[in-house]
Amino acid sequence: MKDVSGRTIKTRGPSTLRIVSVILGVLVTTIPFHLFARLTADQSTTLAILFSSLAGVIAAFLIATIVEWTVHRFAMHKSKRLPLFRIATELHHKAHHWVHHTPTRYVNPEAAINRPSVFAIDKTELCQTTLTRILTTASHAAFYTLLTAPIILIVWVVTANIWFIASMVVSAAVFIYLFIRVHDAVHHPGVSWLERFKWFWFLDRHHYIHHIDNDANTNFLLPLGDLLMGTLRLELTVEEQEKWPHYTEARRLSD
Ligand SMILES: [Zn+2]
Ligand SMILES: [Zn+2]
Ligand SMILES: [Zn+2]
Repeated sequence: MKDVSGRTIKTRGPSTLRIVSVILGVLVTTIPFHLFARLTADQSTTLAILFSSLAGVIAAFLIATIVEWTVHRFAMHKSKRLPLFRIATELHHKAHHWVHHTPTRYVNPEAAINRPSVFAIDKTELCQTTLTRILTTASHAAFYTLLTAPIILIVWVVTANIWFIASMVVSAAVFIYLFIRVHDAVHHPGVSWLERFKWFWFLDRHHYIHHIDNDANTNFLLPLGDLLMGTLRLELTVEEQEKWPHYTEARRLSD
């Protein structure tokens, strides 16, 4: 983004009005899918099941777009008070971004995937045992599940459509799984089969910008969220390019 003087500036955060409008707008967009689910809730024809499930996937995708953005931006980057979110910010913003994977250490030379331990007093400490590693990973999954559960509950009350709900739950599970695994793969080259996909490299490049400007490219998996909120960035500014390694260099710094 360039201001009038031609000087490049970092991402300005969206206004509260924009955030609220985007969230409401996306929720309104999901209304037809919920309505359809509600109306077909007691139909058991193959077609009704098929369309209910499809509607569930689309609604889940739209809701996930704003949930990922809000959770990542606020709970994982900017929380100071609420204990659960404060821990998430320490583990993610501080430990992940600015201790273990700074732009100059975007990828890690260590072969095995490791992460800052949720049990350590100092949240920048990496897991020391397999057990803490497993439990820390599980705690991440639990964190996202905890935030997803109330949404699923509301959707259940509103639609009472088992196929719609089931496909939403499956979509959410796939999404959470990918969120953790793809992010691990991005920072630990050569250990994942995901590297063979083109979209993986798109997300990797996209995420590198987030590591330089934490207020941009907030959504790791669903860039639509950033597009709507105005935080999507496809390239670095001149200042950022001078200050930090080029993407291809950052990728190579591991070997
Ligand atoms: Zn982040
Ligand atoms: Zn790591
Ligand atoms: Zn990262």
